[in-house]
Amino acid sequence: MIDFSAIADRALAGQPANRDEALAALTASDAETFALVDAASRLRRHYFGNTVKVNYLVNLKSGLCPEDCTYCSQRLGSEAEVLKYSWIKTDEAVKQAGYGIAGGASRVCMVASGKGPTDRDVERVVTMVEDLKEEHPQVEVCACLGILKDGQADRLKQAGVDAYNHNLNTSEDHYADICTTHTYADRVNTVHSAKEAGLSACSGLIVGMGESDEQLVDAIFALKDLEGDSIPVNFLMPFEGTPLAGTWELTPLRCLRILATVRLVAPEKELRMAGGREMHLRSLQPLALHVVNSLFLGDYLTSTGQSALDDLKMIRDGGFVVLGAEDRDLVAEHEDYLRAHGVDLAQETAVAPAPCGASGGCGGCSSGACGTHPSAGEAGAGVRPGGGQRAPEVLVPEIRRRGVGTDATPNF
Ligand code: SF4
Repeated sequence: MIDFSAIADRALAGQPANRDEALAALTASDAETFALVDAASRLRRHYFGNTVKVNYLVNLKSGLCPEDCTYCSQRLGSEAEVLKYSWIKTDEAVKQAGYGIAGGASRVCMVASGKGPTDRDVERVVTMVEDLKEEHPQVEVCACLGILKDGQADRLKQAGVDAYNHNLNTSEDHYADICTTHTYADRVNTVHSAKEAGLSACSGLIVGMGESDEQLVDAIFALKDLEGDSIPVNFLMPFEGTPLAGTWELTPLRCLRILATVRLVAPEKELRMAGGREMHLRSLQPLALHVVNSLFLGDYLTSTGQSALDDLKMIRDGGFVVLGAEDRDLVAEHEDYLRAHGVDLAQETAVAPAPCGASGGCGGCSSGACGTHPSAGEAGAGVRPGGGQRAPEVLVPEIRRRGVGTDATPNF
């Protein structure tokens, strides 16, 4: 049995896991996995203590993409019935970001579908970022707009963008299997451009797309070599209507091993359990918090996540604190906020209301009487207290029908 604790000791002494050790971690047995998680958790504690960085996604432009990434519900020819809309307005972007910030997010990720932005698109995002920073000067902004052309990263940096996300997703020799309309090298180049402009680089993975263990190790080391600051790990959500529909390669323990392997290879990086954590880690999500130090709150770009309130409870119950909100009781704040807006926390069909700004409040906000808030029925039956859905029991992604691009209250 491999001594994962000794690997962690060496990592703490400045020598992270090598390729053979990473492969051993990735292919550990189920019975060995908890020793692996224990070793990875020592690195997590060393670099990040008990903090969890909370990030919040705002999908600025959804669907309608000309690219053919097989995993993506927004791809060319996707039959997934995701929300489709072009660029939202600046005030809507700022409003949506505000929900996540109220929920404890210290970083807002502003994302748009497409191969890459035009210069006009970049200027749209610049205006959004400037307005957002004026209202929330403390918040970090990460832009995720696709492949950047010359000068665009500099323009974003100049406007106050803090970070740029562009995932490598998989290994170089697997890339052509998941996308034919752009190359792995295009992705690497964009991460380099972002770094050269002084943006913090965020680049990560989507796992469970048919990659071999060796290819996954290649991808992890490629991310390490990129020397970015954060690594999101997405677990494939196999949307109906995409080429990878029905692809189901992951188990909760496999997901833990993947996260722990990334931690052993790149111990000091912000490691995020990202899209698909609910459906793939399932009941092991709280355990994953001992390996990762970052997550997205609420919903994803085109699919639902578990309720933000459940996320905040999971963080609290594990003895963790939200980075930047260490002195706040975010669970209590969130519950108070919901109660103050007429939400019965015991009622399974309640919705999380948006602040409507109506003078004196609007009474029972879930009634829809104020004309601003959706009624519980409009927002969708089955929505839980806190505005979220239960983690899916049916193992297919649930399409997002609330938040940005809709009139329904977001999951924040
Ligand atoms: S991942 Fe991005 S570039 Fe690829 S299809 Fe989806 S939105 Fe388009």
